[in-house]
Amino acid sequence: MLNFSFYNPTNIVFGKDQINNLDSLVPKNAKILITYGGGSVMDGTKFIAIASVADDYMGRESELLKFGFNPIPVEGAIPFGTVVTLPATGSEMNNGAVVTNEIDKLPIFSKFTFPKFSILDPTLTYTLPATQVANGVVDTFIHTVEQYVTYPVNAGFQDRTAEGILQTLIEVGKETIENPTNYDARANLVWCATMALNGLIGSGVPQDWTTHMIGHEMTALFGLDHAKTLAVVQPAIWKVRKSAKQEKLLQYAERVWNIKDGSEDEKIDRAILKTEGFFHSLGIKTKLSDYNIGEDGIQKIINSLEKHGMTALSESREVTLEVSEEILRKAL
Ligand code: ZN
Repeated sequence: MLNFSFYNPTNIVFGKDQINNLDSLVPKNAKILITYGGGSVMDGTKFIAIASVADDYMGRESELLKFGFNPIPVEGAIPFGTVVTLPATGSEMNNGAVVTNEIDKLPIFSKFTFPKFSILDPTLTYTLPATQVANGVVDTFIHTVEQYVTYPVNAGFQDRTAEGILQTLIEVGKETIENPTNYDARANLVWCATMALNGLIGSGVPQDWTTHMIGHEMTALFGLDHAKTLAVVQPAIWKVRKSAKQEKLLQYAERVWNIKDGSEDEKIDRAILKTEGFFHSLGIKTKLSDYNIGEDGIQKIINSLEKHGMTALSESREVTLEVSEEILRKAL
């Protein structure tokens, strides 16, 4: 296991009618600003919370958007809490955010942007459109594999927990889309989404966020839903980087999909097919051509990756622009 520091101060208040406890979570004399919509709103709120206390914020939005890569000093943030209405991003229990201005979609992080509390009432998500629920299942799935399908470091707890999240998503994914008021199915999705990206399964293990970095460019360029970009990119990455990820892909095949027969290669190929089949069963497509993106589009994505310095991605930094291009061609 790799060395790590794990810190997560967010108070999670989970379950039916827990919204009634909001009174006890917000100081009586607090002045309140409310923002509303879903996962992106939680992220936007983090940006507002930092930007509001930055000294000379006016006119420096683009600089502020570079917090994650080329940070300007962040001295604090307005305290905030969240009420989750869309299970997907995990933003309710982490300090990260992805923020988009007119042209860029970039991640930001700060030690000040953990929510003070998050209320997770699964019944508040019942009215989401089916496509948003499907997106949430896929986003959560990809967050998990990006911290799991890398290379082994004998992190037994993290691996088993990641596998538990993936198997739970496979069990409840279709059910919670088709029967949105099945409380147990939805509660499991909500908790999986939070646990997939609160730092726990990512502690002490290598991580590979290639899928998200390429996907962000696709959303910014073509307006595709975040999760829909991920479902296109992830299987293609595994096909192109099969040998680099051989051991963990094999573990994924055997432990998550219970594939026991065949050669190592066959097991991995079947696991990738099973993954694509799972996304399809949720109504999510897995090819660029499904969204009418061809060679031209690939070149635009590569240009954006270059512009944002995304030229050495993955757990080994070996995903250069050339490899990204190969991945996107595989997804055509
Ligand atoms: Zn995501």
